[in-house]
Parts: sequence; structure tokens; C-alpha cells
Amino acid sequence: MKTTLLPSLASSSSSSSSKSSSSSRTYHQCSCALVVCAAFLRGRGHHHRYRRRPSQTAATNASSSSSLSSSFRFRRSNKTRRGSQNDSSSSSSTNSSMLVNDDVDDPTIRPTAEEAISWAFQHGLVVASGKETAGQVFHAPVALYPTPFPKDVFEFAKEITPKFAELYDKVSEDDAFMRETLREAALSDPEFTGRLWKIYEACGKRGNGRLDKELGILRTDYMLDTRSGMPLQVEVNTVSTSFMGLGSKVTLLHQHLAEYTKGNIDDDMKLKKENMPTNDSLNQAAKTLCEGWKCMECENASILMVVQEGETNIFDQRLISQKVFETIGVKTIRKTLREINESGRLDLKTNLFSIDGQLCSVIYFRAGYSPSDFPSEAQWEAKMLLEKSSSLKSPSVAMHLAGSKKIQQALAEEGVLEKFMPNDATEMRKVFAGLYSFEGEKNMQKTIQLGLSNPADYVLKPQREGGGNNLYGKELKEKLENDTKDLPAYILMQRIFPPSHQVTMLRKGLAHEIESLSELGIYGSYLRKGDVNSNTARVMNEHGGSLLRTKAASSDEGGVAAGYAVLDSPYLV
Ligand code: ADP
Ligand code: MG
Repeated sequence: MKTTLLPSLASSSSSSSSKSSSSSRTYHQCSCALVVCAAFLRGRGHHHRYRRRPSQTAATNASSSSSLSSSFRFRRSNKTRRGSQNDSSSSSSTNSSMLVNDDVDDPTIRPTAEEAISWAFQHGLVVASGKETAGQVFHAPVALYPTPFPKDVFEFAKEITPKFAELYDKVSEDDAFMRETLREAALSDPEFTGRLWKIYEACGKRGNGRLDKELGILRTDYMLDTRSGMPLQVEVNTVSTSFMGLGSKVTLLHQHLAEYTKGNIDDDMKLKKENMPTNDSLNQAAKTLCEGWKCMECENASILMVVQEGETNIFDQRLISQKVFETIGVKTIRKTLREINESGRLDLKTNLFSIDGQLCSVIYFRAGYSPSDFPSEAQWEAKMLLEKSSSLKSPSVAMHLAGSKKIQQALAEEGVLEKFMPNDATEMRKVFAGLYSFEGEKNMQKTIQLGLSNPADYVLKPQREGGGNNLYGKELKEKLENDTKDLPAYILMQRIFPPSHQVTMLRKGLAHEIESLSELGIYGSYLRKGDVNSNTARVMNEHGGSLLRTKAASSDEGGVAAGYAVLDSPYLV
């Protein structure tokens, strides 16, 4: 494992798997490269300024952990920026296009933006406006150029991530641990975690008919922590991970623009394709579903994709379905939980889920991760029916629950990760941020005090997915001071401070230059068939591609679908 390249892991030897001399550079050198990269990207309207936040400066100690942040340069573009960075209405543009009013004071941007928009429509890098059948689409919100990201950090995250797929699968199969860890969260959050837990009790737990198989399209999210220089794990998503389709298109878009804009600038300013890692997330997501379908050995079955009402991210999903169809000739049926409740049933002979006369041997959830997906009992009944079936679920309700933030926190406690992953725990712990529980009177008081001691340094997280749920700063303080009853359903997490870059984003045809932070998602393709503790049971546990999501530095939350971030790809330096 290429861990020797990271500052807090530094050893005198370079990695055995390092292929080039560049891979033995230190992190400090790596971040110098970021600055160089910033210089050549500047010529392309992609202005990166690496700056320390005041809190980072204060907190960064003089040890090796400062090697990343100490090499940041405070850089300012000479050009004047106008108005609010987020407010396109406050801008005027010097370009001649009649239809646009970019918020970027750079005449080279409009032609490149128009090429990007055109490419996006021509290649399916699009999102729907709201109604599945309306056929009204927008290009997906994207960064115009890839954002610099340290190669060594990327490689480390890529190598460590499959271990988390194995870990969460093992956790999901450990009934005693699940029971113990989620008990209070289920009680304090009866409307959601509690309901999922009831389904787990009824049919997800070993011995209640749960399949001896697990299928996962997972995504582990990391932020580069400037204080430690490490990629710290934000969360592990075990259910409804998205953007495998659009994410791989963004990489292709950025590669295309690198070629397209080549003539515009000096040679030494050019984006190099070799710094833009291949992103196979679309193929990998499809491959996972294909392998799951094959292992069910039911020739005439389809795949069911459980989708949200009014889904806007349908093209991301359909790209995967189309790839599956091209690969194994199997169709995907798209149904909402409401529709499943209306016409789904269990096949008497096989106990597979069946709808409209079609057997489905694989059930792929792109819905059901948020309370808003369950507006009535009908949706809960549908979820129960799906779970009771003998179809292979991606994920099972057990794996879904294993991805809870509460489990993430419990794994960080002393000796817990070590119990599940005795051989890999030391490496895996390197990406753990500080995570704290509110369970029990003693923890409750201790964690409240910790959060209140410096609210800016923590994030308060409920058992929710999909963005927009976390509490920061003033809200965190108010909750810890005044509303502690349901705190056992929350966890307190160390706040991660990634470096900020100046990024040109495209939203609805307009370019905005925004000081931004990035979050790296590493996908995993996972299939187990047989006992979770047998090494031979893991049919597939592969790197599933990557996704960079970039958001305004002023925004606490980070989801693309939730409207906080844009799709991006890493420029490895
Ligand atoms: P969700 O399940 O809603 O996606 P996350 O844990 O991913 O929940 O949090 C949502 C967003 O909040 C992340 O994408 C990230 O931008 C931000 N965030 C979460 N945890 C942290 C943290 N510890 N430090 C800084 N930002 C965080
Ligand atoms: Mg998230």
C-alpha cells in the first residue's frame, strides 16, 4: 500500500509499488505542485488560490502535519472580480454572446463554456428538470476544469476504500453489534431509523431469511484535511450512491476540454491528460449489477431500480441501466415505492419480487434513504415487501443500516474496528476523523462540552442521508445547549478543513467563479456470495471509479443533487 507518501505516514523508503520518481515525492512537494498547477490553470480561466483559513493557521502545529498547509501560497488574481460570487444577477459580461451573462471576468471563458455545455448535451451529462417524462433537461452542474488534488492522497484513498466495503459488510452481518450500536438511535429516531430497524428485525437479520449474499455499489467520501494532510473520511454511503454515470462523463468532458483549449495557451500551461485519472465508475456500477444478476441464476429475470418520485437524476441512473442492457441484455424496470406497493408481489414459486408479471432477481435502491421517500405507510409496506423477497438487494436493509453515521462513530471507538478488521485496522484508522457519541449520561455530558468548547471545529450529524441535515456553528451550539433529548440519534464529528481553490463552475449555462472546497468520493464494486467471514466468499471487491464534488467554500453542506455542489474531477498533482 502506498502509504509512505503521506506526511503522517512518512517513512524513509518510497513505496514498492511506486512506478515513477514523481511518486516518491513528499506531500510538501506535492502541494508545491498544486501551486504550479494553479499557475497554469490560471491562464485558462480556472483560478486556484490556496489559502489558509484563519482557524487552520491557528490549529496547524509546527510538526510534519503542517507540511501541506505550510506550502500553500496566498495568491490573488490580478483581475478584478465583480459583485457576489454566487449571484449571477449582479454580474455583467464582456463577451459578445447575447444569451449569457457570466460572472467571470475572462473573455476566454464563454467559448470554452459553450463547448462544455454543448458536449454535456451531446454526451448525456444532463439532469432532468423534475418530471421524468417531460423531456426537459439541463446540463449537469459542473466545474469547467478539473480541480487539483494531491496524487498521493488520491492513491491512498483509492487503495484503502475496498477495505471499507468488506468492513461494512461484516458489520451488517453482526447482529449483536448492530443491535447494540443502533438501539438508542432507533429509539431516539423512531420515524426513520426505528422503522428501518423494524424491517431489519422482520427480515434483514440472519436467520430471518436474509440472503447469504450482498451486492454493493458503495461510495466512501473523503475530504483532504489541511491540518493533518490526510484524506479524512466524511462518511461511507452504502445506499443509493449516485453519479457513477455522470461522474465518468465529467472526467471525459475535462479530458475533451484539455484537448480543445490546447491552442489557447503556452505549452507549459496546458492541462495534461495523464494527470486526469481514468474514471470507470459507469462501467463499474453496471458491472456490479451484471455480476449480481448472474449470481442469482435466473435467466428470465430483470433488474428492479427503486426510484424517487419526480427524480431529476434519471440520466445518471439510465446510463447504468443502458450499460447493463448492452452488456448482458437484461432490462431494468424503474418503479417508485408507491408503485411497488400498488402492484408488486412475491412470486409464489421463487419468492423473487415480481411486478407487472416480470420477475426481478436484483433490486437496486436509488430511493428509500430519506424520510421524504416515505410520505405514507404505503412506502414502508413496499420497503418491507422488497426486503422479504429472495431477490438480491443492493443494499440489504442490514447493509443500509450499517452505513448509518452512528455505526461510523462506533467503529472509531477503541478496539472496535480492530475486532472486525484485525489485519487492516491500523491503515484504515488513518482516515478516521474524530467521532463522538452522545449515548449514556457520561458521554452525553462529555460530548456536549466538547462541541460547545469550540462549535466551529465540529459538525453535528443526525442519522440521515442526502445532504442538508447536519448542524454547524450557531445551530450546533443551540442544539447542544437547548435541545438534547434526541441527541443519542446524533453523532458529533471533528470538522474537516480542506484547502480552498478558485473554481469556475457552470450552472444552467452560466459560469461563476467561486472559492471552493472539494470532496473526493471513491466508489466500490462489491459482491459477496456465502459466509461473510470466508475470504473465498468475496466474488468482487474492486475500485469502482471516483467522483470529485466541489462546492462553495462558504457552504457547509455538499450534495450535488441537493444543490450545494457541482460535479468535478481531480487533476492529480
Ligand atoms: P449526507 O449523508 O447528508 O451526505 P454527510 O456526512 O456526507 O451527510 O454530510 C453532508 C456534507 O456535509 C458533506 O458532503 C460535506 O460537505 C459536509 N461535511 C460532513 N461532515 C463534515 C466534516 N466532518 N467536516 C466538514 N464538512 C463535513
Ligand atoms: Mg454525504
